[in-house]
Amino acid sequence: MSDCMTTRLYIDGEWRDAADGAVMPVIDPATGEQVGTVAHATRSDLDAALGAVSRGFHLWSATPAFDRSRFMRRAAELLRERAHTIGRMMTIEQGKPLEEATGEVLRGADIIDWFAEEARRTYGQIIPARIPGVMQMTYKLPIGPVAAFTPWNFPINQTVRKLAAALAAGCSLIVKAAEETPASPAELVRAFSDAGVPAGVINLVYGNPSEISEYLIAHSTIRKISFTGSTPVGKKLAALAATHMKPSTMELGGHAPAIIFEDADIPAAVKMLARAKFLNAGQVCVSPTRFLVQEQVYDEFLEAFTSAAKAVKVGNGLHEGVEMGPLANERRIPALEVVVQDAVDRGATLTTGGRRIGNVGNFYEPTVLSRVPTEARLMNEEPFGPIASFNSFRTSSEAINEANRLPYGLASYVFTKSSDVIQQIGTRIEAGMVTINHVGLSLPEVPFGGIKDSGHGTEGGSEAINAYLITRFVTHGAP
Ligand code: NAD
Repeated sequence: MSDCMTTRLYIDGEWRDAADGAVMPVIDPATGEQVGTVAHATRSDLDAALGAVSRGFHLWSATPAFDRSRFMRRAAELLRERAHTIGRMMTIEQGKPLEEATGEVLRGADIIDWFAEEARRTYGQIIPARIPGVMQMTYKLPIGPVAAFTPWNFPINQTVRKLAAALAAGCSLIVKAAEETPASPAELVRAFSDAGVPAGVINLVYGNPSEISEYLIAHSTIRKISFTGSTPVGKKLAALAATHMKPSTMELGGHAPAIIFEDADIPAAVKMLARAKFLNAGQVCVSPTRFLVQEQVYDEFLEAFTSAAKAVKVGNGLHEGVEMGPLANERRIPALEVVVQDAVDRGATLTTGGRRIGNVGNFYEPTVLSRVPTEARLMNEEPFGPIASFNSFRTSSEAINEANRLPYGLASYVFTKSSDVIQQIGTRIEAGMVTINHVGLSLPEVPFGGIKDSGHGTEGGSEAINAYLITRFVTHGAP
């Protein structure tokens, strides 16, 4: 073990080993070496977390919003103070470059601040009554204890969106963060506990994902489910939540189209989209994947994008100047190899990349494929890696039809100078997020979420807190 990080469970205000002492290894994806362990919760640990989250809910929901907000702001400050240390842990366990990892921690603090402000604005209504002397009101109240399941690609960002929104609303939580990247979300939880959030309000577990989700979702203590991950798992968990009549927020996979019109500023579009594509080695649900370029500028755009892909400096995220780290886990390598080979077999041209780099760590080349047939797997399945597929189009309708062809509907990107096209695209693209002439997604104050198979609910903006609130109607006549 080269850089030991020991992550324990956090239950009822205590960092604990699993009841039976079981642990799982944590691997550095850049070296393949074990760098730590994470506790593997047993059923009795989950029962302890359920008891704690129930008590935590009674305490936290009764804490005035003004005070909840203050605790949260303090946690955000602590996170900022610790950003470099936590960012380093994230790079070691997840692989992304240190600057990206540290940036993620800092953005996590911004998300906490945003929701700390929202905590103070969960207004109800006074509804005019038909009968004199009658009062009609609605209260916004916390929904209850939440079970949140978060993935390994953005260990802090995906966790903090759920955690901060739920805490702002007055909910307590059990978070099951990703076993592959346990240390950085544990530091996020530590920032809240050091900020004084009482025992039981936040509980953190790791273990067998399906055993934990099946147990928690079905349990009567839990009133709300939130999941970020793949569409197949999301569908399974949403169905289970529905069986138990529990609302869910599902932030699932995507297959974002990036549509480049012939009038676009090509160098600017290449620069922004290459940066977006290779961010976090393409392991991003909003990563641009299906590049659709108008025929007149197809060759020019493809050539410039291919050069940009070749120029990406790949390496250990801890090393200076590295722009793209390894894939977060070893199983992603064969997954990418299969989709690239399939595209080539069906007639696509590889303009760069397509291979694993070296035999230590999970490094994979930034990859560009041109003229990929629609039936290729790459055009239909989320690659979740540093792979861009290119095809041309003639008319905007053709581009929009291709963009809407898949069941996914998360992010989409458009580059054009035409105000007509901008207007059409904004209304006709089936996606939760459309970003035009820049890459402007994922800020705390704007919505973040998908439609169709990409899930439901938003995890950003002023609507996000609603997922953790219920509306209670109260009416009374004259005493
Ligand atoms: P996966 O579907 O096995 O797992 C995705 C995440 O869900 C992991 O964090 C995993 O621990 C968790 N998970 C899996 N089964 C679960 C269950 N039954 N209950 C609760 N949590 C469960 O896929 P993977 O190999 O880890 O990742 C690849 C795929 O996951 C990609 O194709 C991508 O679509 C998706 N993914 C999406 C996001 C996102 O931000 N939307 C993040 C990570 C992974």
